Amino acid sequence: MDTAIRDSLRDSIRGPVTAPGEPGYDAARAIYNAMIDKCPGVIVQCADAGDVMTAVRSGAQNGLEIAVRGGGHSGAGLCLVEDGMTIDLSAMRGVRIDPMAGTAQVAGGAQLGDLDHAAHAFGLATPSGINSTTGVGGLTLGGGHGHLTRAYGLTVDNLVSADVVLADGSFVTADENHESDLFWALRGGGGNYGVVTSFTYRLHPVSTVGVGITVWPVEQTPDVLRWYREFLPQATEDLNGFFAILTVPPGPPFPEELHGRKACGVVWCWAGEPEQIDKELAGVGDAGRPAFHFTTPMPYPMLQTMFDELLPSGLQWYWRGDFFDRITDEALDVHARFGEALPTGLSTMHLYPIDGAAHRVGPDDTAWSYRDATWSGVFAGIDPDPANAGAIRDWCVGYWEALHPYSMGGAYVNFMMDEGQDRVRATYRDHFDRLARIKRAYDPGNLFHANQNIEPA
Ligand code: FAD
Repeated sequence: MDTAIRDSLRDSIRGPVTAPGEPGYDAARAIYNAMIDKCPGVIVQCADAGDVMTAVRSGAQNGLEIAVRGGGHSGAGLCLVEDGMTIDLSAMRGVRIDPMAGTAQVAGGAQLGDLDHAAHAFGLATPSGINSTTGVGGLTLGGGHGHLTRAYGLTVDNLVSADVVLADGSFVTADENHESDLFWALRGGGGNYGVVTSFTYRLHPVSTVGVGITVWPVEQTPDVLRWYREFLPQATEDLNGFFAILTVPPGPPFPEELHGRKACGVVWCWAGEPEQIDKELAGVGDAGRPAFHFTTPMPYPMLQTMFDELLPSGLQWYWRGDFFDRITDEALDVHARFGEALPTGLSTMHLYPIDGAAHRVGPDDTAWSYRDATWSGVFAGIDPDPANAGAIRDWCVGYWEALHPYSMGGAYVNFMMDEGQDRVRATYRDHFDRLARIKRAYDPGNLFHANQNIEPA
């Protein structure tokens, strides 16, 4: 890259600008998934929306390939480009709670934990994902599901407005009444439409929640899933429970005799009166005798950080996903088979519920195109050792291929690797054409293409 471009950026940007070989560069290009090793020609660590506008203009004028980094959690490493420019928002993490309006204004590079922490001081929260180090940026733009989805919907269902730097470097605020097509596209269409420098979310009265973990031996997977597929969709919307196939982690709250054992389980979050969780889960034994069952009241941000230590940055990740409207009998066997063949201690499969409040939003109200799905599934091969990269990939792809016939055909956009245009179309289904038209209006040159790309119509 022409050094004049970097010099000019350094003259006009408040945050650090780093290039290969310079101090801070390797730290700036390290992302969550250690399987990704890309070297941008320049990383622009923006301090504010003004920096973002300058970076976008410079990238566009100089014909640079551009990627945008929020929390850096994309499995496919979409927040980095080889040689071009990464616009890094990770220093922009401020959160302002407006308790009167019941909203949170969150900078585009914040992590979920920043939002959870700030809102909790007011006894408030909004639905997001289950790991506090995930970026609000990528998670929100893809949809966002987690412990509060059945009670309060997807993250995009709680998005009130977004500040966006567009491909020409201009700045707009999009909401229901302004730039409404753009606002529709941002709620599920990924990073295709611009750089979001700030999100405003609606908050809900969530403070201490009831948390539960139930674990059964992996051999009981078909019985547990048979029970779970009937129980959860009928349960009160305040109850969320994501199903997992896992290896029991070697630490509390699990008893030592279960450490390292393959298992299936459900992680529960009850958003009503915390002590009521036991009443809600009275039927858990109907799935077969659990090896472990534990409930406790817990501050919501503590639940949100529960898996952080287990899954630090720097592991190898390979994942795929699919949406499911039902868990078929044929699928039970597939889960049992691949559950018993978990390749490493951290590899896992999750089924995240996306019914309840998420089903009460109209199918065309946002760009998220699977309101008729009941679960968002992810098959995640995970391990610290690069030597196991092939094994975790093979298990993930094998599991996905075996289960895909029983899926709805498309995946949550945030659970995709680089899987090609057919998969992107399958994700957006009948929303794809409208998204492509909005892309033409806002980014006709496809400047923002380091994402699950929707080409301009
Ligand atoms: P990045 O890699 O920084 O960005 C991902 C994509 O979004 C890129 O294309 C990037 O350009 C774009 N982008 C990011 N920020 C902006 C912005 N401000 N403006 C414009 N474009 C932007 N998802 C869930 O819904 N629920 C979960 O519970 C959940 N759990 C997860 C747990 C782990 C451990 C991991 C690794 C991921 C999880 N995810 C979950 C998936 C997560 O939503 C995606 O990985 C998401 O892309 C992460 O966003 P990010 O900002 O951290 O990623």
